[in-house]
Amino acid sequence: MIHSVCVFCSSSDSVNAVYKETATDLGRRLGRLGLNLIYGGASIGLMGCLARGVHEFGGRVTGVLPEFFKIKEIEYGDADELIVTRDMRERKAVMDQKSDAFITLPGGIGTMEESMEILSMKQLNLTPKPLVFVNTCNFFDGLISNLQEMVDLKFAKKETLDLFAVEPGPQEALDYILNYKPPKISNKWM
Ligand code: AMP
Repeated sequence: MIHSVCVFCSSSDSVNAVYKETATDLGRRLGRLGLNLIYGGASIGLMGCLARGVHEFGGRVTGVLPEFFKIKEIEYGDADELIVTRDMRERKAVMDQKSDAFITLPGGIGTMEESMEILSMKQLNLTPKPLVFVNTCNFFDGLISNLQEMVDLKFAKKETLDLFAVEPGPQEALDYILNYKPPKISNKWM
């Protein structure tokens, strides 16, 4: 059962409004469905839009942020729970422990790093949790073609492309995680 959804997304306020609207829309849908949001705890960029969207519909927001971001005072003060971690690594571990699924919205290096860690864990069969990218304005087409190239050139197995989904919008992404059945794959590393 999915109770808590971790969302990775941009901390930038300067991006086109369409990305912010998508983040707000995802937040509202999470709130309406009664799903808890686990995220990076910031009030800025898509992260802030997302958290405010959840709260518009009475949902619960848990922010997980490292000490040094708290000093910068960018935390989402209205969060129902703010967990302060020692560093970025501990933060990712806490976000993972607390969530049942991962959704990635468009973002920069931080968003990519967080999502690629989950994908590499899935590749090693170290997590059964679903991962889905919301492809607003085809933002992730470049990433997908890069992953396809890794498969074509045999840097990655073709099954890698089945470890995540790419969906056009928030509702489709939610449908994917809510209907997800983890595949029964034996782990060659274990
Ligand atoms: P980016 O995509 O580079 O904007 O990074 C966003 C992701 O990295 C989020 O999912 C956050 O967990 C983390 N992150 C990066 N910058 C910040 C910030 N200023 N405040 C909080 N989290 C951030």
